[in-house]
Amino acid sequence: MTNTDEIRRGESAVTWSGATDAGLVYVGRIGTPWFDTRDCPRHGRLDGQLCRIEVFDTWVPALRDLADGALLEILYWLHRSRRDVLLQSPRDDGTTRSVFSIRSPLRPNPIATSIVRLEKREDAVLFVRGLDCLDGTPLLDIKPDRTDFVPLAPPKAADFQVGDA
Ligand code: SAM
Repeated sequence: MTNTDEIRRGESAVTWSGATDAGLVYVGRIGTPWFDTRDCPRHGRLDGQLCRIEVFDTWVPALRDLADGALLEILYWLHRSRRDVLLQSPRDDGTTRSVFSIRSPLRPNPIATSIVRLEKREDAVLFVRGLDCLDGTPLLDIKPDRTDFVPLAPPKAADFQVGDA
């Protein structure tokens, strides 16, 4: 399902016209050497191609504390993806997997993530390795890699009450 908009053997899609009201804002664009999904890596690698993340002017001050060499989690919107597919046949061999059991780009909300290494920053542009998306893919967010953070001690059961969400 990843390279065409066609439904393959055994696949299924939903007829759906629900609201799209998450209110996301694109904070930049990603420049990569890939112009066709068939050429993109399936998943990014830290020794992969150098790519450019161009952050829109409004958000440039938010880049201040990013250090060269940092591992970052990049969230992006796979803007050319179908969003109606329930069962997919990634190998086009008739066997199917349900969308929430795979990392296919075709999903109801085509949010993707990759861990990248920041090679260097030039003002609004981050040069990174580790991406797997098309040239022009919208940028949603940049976060430090979660392994940089130690979880807080878990709360005791007595701290919860029935009805806490
Ligand atoms: N690393 C991310 C993840 O796991 O969340 C994305 C994995 S997804 C398998 C990567 C594939 O998405 C690429 O190989 C390409 O086929 C497809 N893709 C990349 N950029 C896209 C875009 N802007 N719109 C639609 N499909 C895209």
